[in-house]
Amino acid sequence: MIEGQWVVPEMVQRYRLFYGTYRWNEYERFAADWDITIIVHERTDAPAAFHLDRIVFLRDLRVGTILARRAWHEIGHIIAFPFNSLYWSKVPWGYLVERKTEKRTSDFARLFPVWDSHESLF
Ligand SMILES: [Zn+2]
Repeated sequence: MIEGQWVVPEMVQRYRLFYGTYRWNEYERFAADWDITIIVHERTDAPAAFHLDRIVFLRDLRVGTILARRAWHEIGHIIAFPFNSLYWSKVPWGYLVERKTEKRTSDFARLFPVWDSHESLF
């Protein structure tokens, strides 16, 4: 078993104790509860998902589960893995940390909210 496979699940348990439990489609409720702003837009010249401080920007793809996965990923960056690609691109060997951080943030998005079994198969 590699490190990333157990670090995030253990972390998710702690985060659920602290933040509570949220279903996959309750990212807006989570954001409202924890002072995070979510802005859904339709601009095609912006990345599909990114965050600045505690504001998450999401391009509306009209596929709720993908939007939710991206929202939880960005929320993960804000509450659990605070540094983004720009930061790591300026640090020697930062790309290695960035890759691991992105994987862990995606694991967070997959594991922190409660997904319906058929919704988690993407
Ligand atoms: Zn990311």
